[in-house]
Amino acid sequence: MKDDALSELRSALRGEIITRADAAAFAAARFRGWNRDLNTRTNPLGFVIASGVRDIVTTVNYCRSHNIPVAVRGKGAHSPYGMANDAIVVDLMRMTAVRVDPDEKLVFVQAGADGGDVDHETALHNLVCLTGSVSHTGFAGVALGGGIGHLSRWLGAVVDSILGYEMVTATGEVVRVDAAKDPELFWGMRGNGASFGIVTEFVLKLRDMPNNGLIRGAPILWGADKATDVMRSWMDRIGRPGRKNTEIYQFAFMHSPDGDPVCGIVPLIVGETERTAKATCDELAAYAGGAVVRQDTQLPYTALQAALDDRFPYDVNYWEKGVFIDWDPRDPNAVNSIVDAAVKQWSERPDFATKLSTVLLFMEVNGAVATGDTASTSFAARGARLWCTAIISWPDDDASKRAASRKWCGSLVEKLSPFHVTTYLNNAMPESEAEMLSVFPRDTMKRLRALKEKHDPNNLFKMGAWQYEANL
Ligand SMILES: Cc1cc2nc3c(=O)[nH]c(=O)nc-3n(C[C@H](O)[C@H](O)[C@H](O)COP(=O)(O)OP(=O)(O)OC[C@H]3O[C@@H](n4cnc5c(N)ncnc54)[C@H](O)[C@@H]3O)c2cc1C
Repeated sequence: MKDDALSELRSALRGEIITRADAAAFAAARFRGWNRDLNTRTNPLGFVIASGVRDIVTTVNYCRSHNIPVAVRGKGAHSPYGMANDAIVVDLMRMTAVRVDPDEKLVFVQAGADGGDVDHETALHNLVCLTGSVSHTGFAGVALGGGIGHLSRWLGAVVDSILGYEMVTATGEVVRVDAAKDPELFWGMRGNGASFGIVTEFVLKLRDMPNNGLIRGAPILWGADKATDVMRSWMDRIGRPGRKNTEIYQFAFMHSPDGDPVCGIVPLIVGETERTAKATCDELAAYAGGAVVRQDTQLPYTALQAALDDRFPYDVNYWEKGVFIDWDPRDPNAVNSIVDAAVKQWSERPDFATKLSTVLLFMEVNGAVATGDTASTSFAARGARLWCTAIISWPDDDASKRAASRKWCGSLVEKLSPFHVTTYLNNAMPESEAEMLSVFPRDTMKRLRALKEKHDPNNLFKMGAWQYEANL
């Protein structure tokens, strides 16, 4: 299709349309996304910077009648699927309003908002809505794939708090989707939401944040040479029965600002007195003969939410892959195997990997995630104890570095395969149908495919991890 053929669409929009004809603006729009590697490999037809719901409806109708695929992304634009080749990308970066109803403890999130936008408004009322663990990640992308955050042990997955969606369908209608109006679609959206239409607004219930939003958090660090000891002690701790869901401990391998390899425990302790929380952190910091650096302190929850932002800058080449795992905490062999796999994985990171953004993350996901409502959510990763992710970045556009990065991330999943529960849609980066089937059980997949067939039979919406050709 010629760019000037889009002039009819241009005249019907209140927002902007950017086409290949305007090379500079087009390149800026294309490379706005978080992952440079994916931006390089995806070449859409154009971008509609929607001013509101009406622009989305207009674009969907136009694209449907002209057989142009539609992709959508928000302000976060972190995923591989927010753009598609030769598609019109509906960009919701201007639709980021977040409104809190403190009396009803509800939040209404426009679909372009990122996690930071949500935290910013909810914290004003000492209320909390789970968002991703990096505040510039889009709220929509996180929520549509299930949604795991720092406080998931306490608050469950994001989908567990979603009460409804407003959505533009493939036929260009604006509909509300909730448990009463369309239970099957509501179920499908709560786990595989980026497939059936363009969500314009989320409605979620909020929880009270104790202690005026202050938690005890931030990393406790050791040199990476202590990783085996520290990680064993940490796994012993997180495997203890009867733990409170408001005590969460993440584990990570990363580099210090000086470039030295380190490992760390990131505690998040909600609702305890400062004294009790510090005493717990003292116990953690004593592992492996004592931590080298203690940053744990009392801080606003929102500060911890933004603490990783600079580690993952935009317009850098990234690959990532993750997996949910579980094990019997009473089985020392299982614990040792996981620790050995993690330590080996870290030691095998390629030399070219940038120090700032190459990390191995182990986030706790049991607690409220495990007890969430399985009947009314398609989110399948309920039975895991940890979400393990490898993220790597490389400094230039060299294809061999990309291949090695991809291999390194894949090898984490392979090493942990004996403990594999499911793959997580949001960082699966699936490269085959088989991998896609490791995200959802077969029955769930069957129902999701039936929903796709019903709501988008012509596959107008080129979005969601089902577009896994975007990774090849
Ligand atoms: C640095 C980093 C940290 C992360 N941390 C977490 C985390 O803590 N927890 C977690 O669960 N995940 C996390 N992820 C994974 C993340 O959830 C996914 O990458 C997610 O898809 C990103 O969402 P986004 O809105 O930024 O991306 P986008 O590319 O904008 O969108 C993601 C997907 O959702 C679709 N989509 C976006 N908006 C809409 C809409 N309005 N209607 C329908 N479909 C839409 C897009 O088409 C695309 O398929 C992280 C990713 C990165 C890169």
